[in-house]
Amino acid sequence: MSMRGVVSRSRAKSPWLFHVNTGSCNGCDIEIVAALTPRYDSERLGCVLVGSPRHADVLLATGPVTRQMLSRFVRVYNQVPHPKAVVVVGSCATSGVPFTGSYVMEGPVDRIIPVDVYVVGCPPRPEAIVRGIVTAVKRKFG
Ligand code: SF4
Repeated sequence: MSMRGVVSRSRAKSPWLFHVNTGSCNGCDIEIVAALTPRYDSERLGCVLVGSPRHADVLLATGPVTRQMLSRFVRVYNQVPHPKAVVVVGSCATSGVPFTGSYVMEGPVDRIIPVDVYVVGCPPRPEAIVRGIVTAVKRKFG
């Protein structure tokens, strides 16, 4: 197996996550935290939340992308090394609803950066978030 294959396989078996709040109400963020707790135990799939986007394989974004967050969000996205997967969590991040037309909104997320998986719901259940991460990892690194 080539070195590239080894790295890709490592990512598939142990995806490191970075979470960015792009203007959410914190509802989705709490569900992401729940997905990492022993009850839903996404660590059994190798998922680890990391403190720097430079260490991440998967970027989790919550919220409609507010004007204040736009430049910071793009900077965080650019700091995640290639190849990377992006999972948007929640209806705000997916579609921008209920903030469509608001002067503070620059999103939804896929208007700003490429998105691999959408996890809809307000907020989505932790099981759906875990499934979204697994789907993104399979698509990008599987
Ligand atoms: S989808 Fe719902 S829970 Fe998530 S950020 Fe939007 S309003 Fe909050």
